[in-house]
Amino acid sequence: MKVPDISRVGLRRIVMAGAVVVVLCAIAVPAVAGLTALAAEHQWLPWPSVWPAEHPLAPVVERVLEGNWRKQPEWKLPMLVNGLSKSPEDCSITAYCSECCDGGGRYTRWGSHVRRGICAADPRYWGPGSVVWIGPPVNEVCIVEDTGGAIKGPHRFDVCMEGAHEMCYRIGRSRTIYVPLHRVEPTSRWGDKPKGWQPPVWVRPPDEAS
Ligand SMILES: [Zn+2]
Repeated sequence: MKVPDISRVGLRRIVMAGAVVVVLCAIAVPAVAGLTALAAEHQWLPWPSVWPAEHPLAPVVERVLEGNWRKQPEWKLPMLVNGLSKSPEDCSITAYCSECCDGGGRYTRWGSHVRRGICAADPRYWGPGSVVWIGPPVNEVCIVEDTGGAIKGPHRFDVCMEGAHEMCYRIGRSRTIYVPLHRVEPTSRWGDKPKGWQPPVWVRPPDEAS
C-alpha cells in the first residue's frame, strides 16, 4: 500500500478542518441560540455545564438535533452529547471495505458482518463494543467490532468504509482526531456479538435526577 507523507498531509488536513470550523462557527452564530433552546428542551441529555463551541462534536450534535434525531439509534444522541465532555485525541487511521484487494472477508473478529459504522482497533486497549467518534474525513461514530494484525496501539483505527471504496484510497494512512464515547474493558475472549446487541443508552444517574 502506498503510504503518503503523513505529517504534511495530516497537517494540511488539520489546518483545512480548522478553517472549515472557523467558517462554520461564523455562519452558525444564529444557530447557537437555537441549540441553547434545544438543550433546554432536551434536558434528559447529559449536557456539559458550558457549551463547548470548540469541541469537534459540537457541530455534530447540532446537526443531529437539527435533523430528525429520533431516526438515530436510541443510544447515539445521548452518547454524542456525553462525548462533549470528553477530550478529543489524535489518532492514526486507515480504511477498508470488501472491494479492497486485502479486505479481510465478510465477518469481523466479533462474528458480525463487515459493514459501515464499525472499525477495527487493538484488542489490548479496546474491548468489543467500544464506541468512538472518528474525525475528518470519516466524521462517523464507529463501533469497535474488529481487530487486525497491523492495527496496533491505543490510538490506531481501521475504519470500515463499505460502499465508499474511494475513501479507502483517500484516507490511505492519515492522522485525524477521535473522541472516545464508550470504553469497553479489553478482553482476550471476544466470542460472538450477542444477538440484537446495541451500545448502552445513557441514562441520568438517579442522584442527579432532581
Ligand atoms: Zn476499499
